[in-house]
Amino acid sequence: MKVLKFGGTSVGTVDALRNVKYIVEHQQEPVVVVVSALGGLTDTLIEAANLAAKNDIGAYRIVQDITTRHSEIMNTLIEGEQIDDALNRVRALFYELSNAYTDISRNEELTEADLEEVVSYGERLSSLIISLIINDATYFNSLEIIRSNNHECDIEATNTNIANTLGKFKGKVAVMGGFISRDSNSRRISNLGRGGSDYTAAIVASALNADSLEIWTDVDGFMTADPKKDPNATVIRQMTYQQAQEMCDKGAKVIYAPTIKPVAEKNIPIWVKNTFNRGAVGTLITND
Ligand code: ASP
Ligand code: MG
Repeated sequence: MKVLKFGGTSVGTVDALRNVKYIVEHQQEPVVVVVSALGGLTDTLIEAANLAAKNDIGAYRIVQDITTRHSEIMNTLIEGEQIDDALNRVRALFYELSNAYTDISRNEELTEADLEEVVSYGERLSSLIISLIINDATYFNSLEIIRSNNHECDIEATNTNIANTLGKFKGKVAVMGGFISRDSNSRRISNLGRGGSDYTAAIVASALNADSLEIWTDVDGFMTADPKKDPNATVIRQMTYQQAQEMCDKGAKVIYAPTIKPVAEKNIPIWVKNTFNRGAVGTLITND
């Protein structure tokens, strides 16, 4: 089996999601699909939280826009009889999100716990909706699976949960949200760092001994230089875990730096692929 992770731009629009659907439905082997929030949504959720803390009505306008954006995607990509059932399941999340902002407004204060809770709705919404868009996919709730301490994955507790859920799954496509988790001690929502969906995918790939981890993004792979600054930059076809780690540590944004270690330890190959250019080879990261 493989783990496929799709980032925010890959799940941000109807057209992008059509590509995701195509890529996942054409896989030959079982896959776990890990998704980010719709592009830009995490920042939007934070912005709304800051407005709510000032009791600014703008927070509700943003919640309205978020609702519209997700509903439009569902109305376009979910067909026939399934749409009513799908909207009912997602509506509960819209309702809870709106209530979370009401609580912040009422307290006129934004605590760390409030913020962790509201940002988690990005991946909670995207993962549920994407599981309803992809044929024969099963939704897994990452908040029941991923455990953390101080924004770092609690590997032991998480691996036990993965073994008891995804590890027993016999279907072809599992879908779950990246980034989101619960604190091992308090059980409150406490997410991995920004960009952490890649890390979720790596942890799942490692726990399940996946054949490979594919990071589907909006570029063809790691580049020899920043293409915005250097027109001669080309895609690096193959690199080692160590080279990739060094590039990430120096600020390459292609993957989140903590992603590499869990898969390197198990010698699981990482592919960086472009959702918008499926034919491109991408970058392969291995031991040699
Ligand atoms: N949605 C989160 C963020 O924007 C996590 C991720 O996309 O990897 O940071
Ligand atoms: Mg990212």
